[in-house]
Amino acid sequence: MSIQERVQDVQARIRAAEQAAGRPEGSVTLVAATKVQTDETIRTAITAGITVCGENRVQEFNAHYAAGAYEGADVQFIGHLQKNKVKYLVGKVSLIQSVDSAALLEAISARAERLGLVQDVLIEVNIGEEASKSGVRPEDAATLLALAGTLPGVRARGLMAIPPVSREPGGNRPFFAELYQLFVDIKGQMGDNNSDLDCLSMGMSGDFEDAIAEGATMVRVGTALFGPRPPMRQQG
Ligand SMILES: *Cc1c(COP(=O)(O)O)cnc(C)c1O
Repeated sequence: MSIQERVQDVQARIRAAEQAAGRPEGSVTLVAATKVQTDETIRTAITAGITVCGENRVQEFNAHYAAGAYEGADVQFIGHLQKNKVKYLVGKVSLIQSVDSAALLEAISARAERLGLVQDVLIEVNIGEEASKSGVRPEDAATLLALAGTLPGVRARGLMAIPPVSREPGGNRPFFAELYQLFVDIKGQMGDNNSDLDCLSMGMSGDFEDAIAEGATMVRVGTALFGPRPPMRQQG
């Protein structure tokens, strides 16, 4: 399949999953996970209808951004982020999905204030509570969202999670359901202050339909759009 065909196929599967879940058409945003892809592949995907790209590594983001590869689409950051690299992203990406500490949140806010803007962020939750994964513990997500509410340079929009690698179809549904419930509980606790919380980012190539069934508003898809990736180097 060409990238055009894959984009159409994934979009159609998202529409079908929305419908099956009784959700309004267009209520789920497709984020194309563009790690290791070239400028040309990213441009092809945008021409084919991709409206949001999600980048994992600051170095790749900088190169694609400088080359204008994302023109015509929004770009977000979805990878592990170090505080000292915040300056490369704030004001250039529409959303930082992977905020997992108070220090990172404060660094993003400080940078955004210096630039006179407000940066949208998600709090990343380590929903499978895996030692190897980033993200806050589920019980700490509310604290970080509350902190975000006190910082002038950030606006928290919701939660993101990468569940454990699943060996069987449907294996991650309980994690998606758990994250959805956490999201609902936190919104309930925040009452009148919850209006910015409209984003639940969960689901990837192997399981985005399950994630949509469990309430995802945003899915991050790489392989199903671009084909298999070469083995990854360590995150840097
Ligand atoms: C690579 C990546 C994805 C997409 O993974 P696929 O299985 O290729 O769809 C989603 N989210 C994050 C954070 C990623 O790094």
